[in-house]
Amino acid sequence: MAVPALYVVPTPIGNRADMVPRAIEVLQSVSLIAAEDMRHSRPLLNHFGIETPMIAYHDHSDERVVERVLAALRSGDSVALISDAGTPLISDPGYRIVDAAHSEGIAVVPIPGACAAIAALSAGGLPSDRFCFEGFLPAKTQVRHTALSALAAETRTLVFYEAPHRLLATVQAMAEVFGGERIAVLARELSKLHETIRRASLAELAEWINQDSNQQRGECVLLVKGAPAREQALDAEAERILYLLMDELPLKQAAQLAAQITGLKKNLLYDAGVKRARDR
Ligand code: SAM
Repeated sequence: MAVPALYVVPTPIGNRADMVPRAIEVLQSVSLIAAEDMRHSRPLLNHFGIETPMIAYHDHSDERVVERVLAALRSGDSVALISDAGTPLISDPGYRIVDAAHSEGIAVVPIPGACAAIAALSAGGLPSDRFCFEGFLPAKTQVRHTALSALAAETRTLVFYEAPHRLLATVQAMAEVFGGERIAVLARELSKLHETIRRASLAELAEWINQDSNQQRGECVLLVKGAPAREQALDAEAERILYLLMDELPLKQAAQLAAQITGLKKNLLYDAGVKRARDR
């Protein structure tokens, strides 16, 4: 092992062939693996011939567990952190231990690999230059509705994890809050036999999931296209400048000059000028 550190190691989200070679190497060579659920991880580790001792770790674990991991790290041993599937800390345990390691000046090394949110974004066909990861929505209907309402004007692509038995109700709630015409993607069973990626409006998705109960099984990520960006509004100062210029110059020139002064778009100022001329 090159550096003694806390290694954050991803594991496959369904297809064992997605286990990255560096993850295997790290898990074989560290002194201890802190695992979300040892029984769950044992078959995967056996499959790759990894015999490193494990300790069960959760963000709600007893302080003694965190202390044991930190003691190993302080003594110069390396420890790997894994969750049941995918990247630790992404809607999974790990934050408490990574936070503690940083506080003690212990190196934390990420091994890049499987993550359902990123896999869904990469293949979902929605804008991915900016996105907003929301993880799991609250389970209770009213609280979930409130959480969705707070996101209604978000312009970035929204990324959610959802449990299969709540999928239909969630997509229906999204259609109600965001509007049925908003485009969304259901990315289900990624990297597995029944992998499905379906892009449609929220209303169509809800209908499709309702008609086909197979869609309400397995694991899924929901992506929702962001709200259209709202038109920039003219503030009082921009209006004052535009109107002053309009009193002296033809509208086209006034809008051009006002755009240079305020930094706003020329079209926006021109349209505001037309409206003012019409209303006078
Ligand atoms: N840490 C994981 C990651 O990096 O993606 C996520 C763990 S979170 C507890 C589990 C949720 O991730 C599932 O309920 C589902 O929303 C999503 N997920 C995990 N595996 C998936 C898969 N193969 N296909 C679609 N979604 C998946």
